[in-house]
Amino acid sequence: MSGLHLDALPPELRQKWAAARVWAAHRVPYLARALMTLDPVVVPDTEDTDDGAALRRFPADVGWHIHISPAEIGRQSVPQIGFWLLHQLTHVLRGHAAQFPTAGARPELVEGAETGLFPLTGRTPEQQVWNVATDAEINDDLLMAGLELPADAAMPGALGLPDNGLAERYWSLLRERTEPIEARLSAGDCGTGCDGRPRPWNCDWPGVSRTTAQLTALDTARRIRDHQRTREDVPGGWRRWADEVLEPTVNWRRQLAAQIRRGIADTAGRVDYTYRKPSRRAGSLPDVVLPGLHQALPVVAVVIDTSGSMSDSMLGQSLAEVSGVLRAVGIGRDRITVMSVDARVYRAQSLHRISDLRLGGGGGSDIRVGIAAAAALKPAPDLIVVLTDGHTPWPDAPPPRTRVVVGLLDPAGLPPDWATTVLISDQSRK
Ligand SMILES: [Zn+2]
Repeated sequence: MSGLHLDALPPELRQKWAAARVWAAHRVPYLARALMTLDPVVVPDTEDTDDGAALRRFPADVGWHIHISPAEIGRQSVPQIGFWLLHQLTHVLRGHAAQFPTAGARPELVEGAETGLFPLTGRTPEQQVWNVATDAEINDDLLMAGLELPADAAMPGALGLPDNGLAERYWSLLRERTEPIEARLSAGDCGTGCDGRPRPWNCDWPGVSRTTAQLTALDTARRIRDHQRTREDVPGGWRRWADEVLEPTVNWRRQLAAQIRRGIADTAGRVDYTYRKPSRRAGSLPDVVLPGLHQALPVVAVVIDTSGSMSDSMLGQSLAEVSGVLRAVGIGRDRITVMSVDARVYRAQSLHRISDLRLGGGGGSDIRVGIAAAAALKPAPDLIVVLTDGHTPWPDAPPPRTRVVVGLLDPAGLPPDWATTVLISDQSRK
């Protein structure tokens, strides 16, 4: 879609849009500058979009365009439009599109997902659950900033989620549930700015460059710090975000947790046709055994490099982090195998025997034997988490049908390019 500039709007609507922008900047002053970076695109109303369902929330995209339906500006009040401006800006500033987990389907989690209730947006159930998870993260902070929330704005409390959480955590919690999310909360679409997937109304205009986006994030984070120094009324989610943007260190705990969750979600979504469970249809065909749908729980192996260069405290902290994540996503101890490796596989044991692990085994390390031993486990692991300083030879290719996440404990170490790597550096271990 080509889109139109703001001056295509009738003067009264243009004034209302400008008033909403000013309103938003006054209510949340530390976001005022970033608000100015949003580039408005007028999307002419058609019979399809005029019912308000598609563009009710003024969805943004990753190029910082914000899409405006003239009918919606006419319909909503200045504070309502201002709320959505701040809301969509938050999706874009916090980079929700890049964080969208690509995971298996749980269509039953969204009310109406299989009944074609949302033909206009055509989103997958995962997109809808991610939208709700990110909204809960955002709206928590907007409420604390003193804004009034629209009726369809998802809040952690209304979803039975803990307050002040991050979208990734909400996503995992929502996906562990069996009851559907209320359609009222999951029907609204926050667009490409939320999940990175295309939308029919997106314009083909060039967007804000990556550098401008980064500079805007840095500038906004500094404003949040300054504001907090004098006024002390910045919501927790924004303070945490500013810390992450401004600190030179990476929050490895969050990254490692996200990568492990993503690896697990990939395998949890993989549905096997197996002969283990009889199909209900088999009753009518007595001589044939039909495959039943069997959703396998992921099996995880943790391979720990215990060569001389690794300190016990480094290993202990990262191992505690890994086991915490696995426990939080409901992977029981019986599905986790821990192996320690230096030049050979030292021992294989279950997670609750971590205290027995002999760390710092000494000698040169060869993580290849550890990965090979993990891949040979029965049942084969769906996810292998490797904790290492990286000073080791690696296999040329990953084991088949297994995702490998490397927790790298030395920035000078070299992880293989076929694995997902999270750097666990000294400075960030706080
Ligand atoms: Zn949203």
